Amino acid sequence: MEKVRLDENPEEDKALRPLLLSDFIGQKLLKDKLSVFIEAARMRKAPIDHILFSGPPGLGKTTLAGIIAQEMGGRFHSSSAPALTKPGDLVKILTILEDGDVFFLDEIHRLSRQCEEILYPALEDGYIDFILGEGMTTQSIKLPLKPFTLVGATTRSGMLSSPLKSRFGIDLKLEFYDPADLALIVERSARLLEINMKKEAALTVAKRARMTPRVANRLVRRLRDYATVENVQEIDGAFASECLEKLGVDELGLVELDRKLLRLMIERYNGGPVGIRTLAALVDEEERTIEEDHEPFMLRISLWEKTPQGRMASPQAFSHLGFPTVTKSNENQGRLF
Ligand code: ADP
Repeated sequence: MEKVRLDENPEEDKALRPLLLSDFIGQKLLKDKLSVFIEAARMRKAPIDHILFSGPPGLGKTTLAGIIAQEMGGRFHSSSAPALTKPGDLVKILTILEDGDVFFLDEIHRLSRQCEEILYPALEDGYIDFILGEGMTTQSIKLPLKPFTLVGATTRSGMLSSPLKSRFGIDLKLEFYDPADLALIVERSARLLEINMKKEAALTVAKRARMTPRVANRLVRRLRDYATVENVQEIDGAFASECLEKLGVDELGLVELDRKLLRLMIERYNGGPVGIRTLAALVDEEERTIEEDHEPFMLRISLWEKTPQGRMASPQAFSHLGFPTVTKSNENQGRLF
């Protein structure tokens, strides 16, 4: 069976990215705020304030950063905190920014302390301080920057240091999508990829796409593969369900790894709590993959619980996987959620 992975593939995503705020589906409250901030900045003829987007992967943080650049008429530069291994890497980007450019910095919670130190005056006062040379010839240089907008993205806003967080004038959280909005995204993607898909099929995909546009788009592409190979001219609801079944995506949108994690918790640990490290080792995946790609959605649909002692499978998880529900008291587990 083909494994459906949930992590990123930026190249694959690019073609389907909306370029204007009006093409961005869903997230109504966030969009309303953003359009006011964009309009106000345009009227002032100044760059929009620095923005922090937080939320699980695949919900549209990168897309929105690109939209802001487009709407503000600036260029779009993008990097990711783990890629900035030396302060010089960050300095290089900051110094090429032009008036009104957008600098998108993904996974900003993973920024090194030295890079953070460079960002503070850059964000607050528009200059950078950096040290040239070594030993006796050390020289501190203060370099002015052009007015730019930093758009930071994070899947773990709790891990951001508070001094860094406070440098963002605008702090917006992306929510999971409801099936109706996701169905519109599926229809749009099918149209752009020239796939003939019925409305009912779009809704079927939307319901199993983990409330996440990136997952929805990926499923659309896999459906196209099946339709091509099986010479199906129009994808209807039944064909969509059949393909999703073959892909191992169940009616809640869980993939094989989600079910494996839950089954392990239930069968080996009577539902948990189990430490994230143990779980990662048992399924041979990185802790981060579980915490960022799998856990948020399962928490959102109440299959997964997070306690100070570890992760637990909820009674709903037991029944979803066909196990008799345990009546274990969770009162002493000190739940966080
Ligand atoms: P993130 O940066 O939060 O991980 P992305 O911005 O890379 O997410 O979005 C992943 C994919 O989902 C992109 O290809 C984009 O086309 C699509 N997408 C995200 N949000 C929307 C939306 N609201 N409307 C249409 N497509 C979207």
